[in-house]
Amino acid sequence: MTIQRPALPVVLSAPSGAGKTTLARMLVDRHDDVVFSISATTRPARPGETDGQDYHFVDDNTFDRMIEHNKLAEWAVVHGRRYGTPRQEITDAIQQGRTVVLDIDVQGARQVRKMFPDALMVFVLPPSARELARRLTGRASEEDLERRRRLDNARNELRAVSEFDYVVVNDDLEQAYTEIASIVRAEWSRSDRLRDLDEHTRGMIAELDEIIRQSP
Ligand code: 5GP
Repeated sequence: MTIQRPALPVVLSAPSGAGKTTLARMLVDRHDDVVFSISATTRPARPGETDGQDYHFVDDNTFDRMIEHNKLAEWAVVHGRRYGTPRQEITDAIQQGRTVVLDIDVQGARQVRKMFPDALMVFVLPPSARELARRLTGRASEEDLERRRRLDNARNELRAVSEFDYVVVNDDLEQAYTEIASIVRAEWSRSDRLRDLDEHTRGMIAELDEIIRQSP
């Protein structure tokens, strides 16, 4: 009998441009039993994005219906568009004993923490304000107004950093990935997350008793 890895919602938040989406994808790509929570959004797809893979791209009416029917675990307006986590993305993963990574903003992170108090909350910091601004300029899809909006939003997101369990600075992508992966792995080993730990150790103790009994 082996100890079951705990099901774990992992929230990654950061100002736009800090690299959290790339980090979230790396975590999923490099672990078989880690899945990405695909959000619904009313923003249009960017070039290269695929519906149902990067996001569920929906219109306002559909998003309204999702809220009405209580289909969203959390939702928020970010940069003037609505984004939300389908409740099923989390509950399915938990039922399957998997780790699910949520790439969401701070408003959403707070809602998830309330609903799933044992969620792991990680904040990704850019190495500096200048680097954050530079990364946002480098995005082909960002218009000037949009870039300004994201910079303003970054100020507010940064204020929430102390609400998170862990903070990782994304200066070097591989290094930041290694830190996040280590944090997640450590959480997998926490005794208070291992639901079948008692049963497992009871089984071991019973086996040991048997070994002792048969010993000369
Ligand atoms: P982008 O439009 O650049 O993909 O994402 C903009 C922001 O919305 C990012 O900070 C991203 O983490 C956040 N976001 C994406 N999905 C969700 C979601 O389901 N809920 C919330 N609250 N924020 C989200």
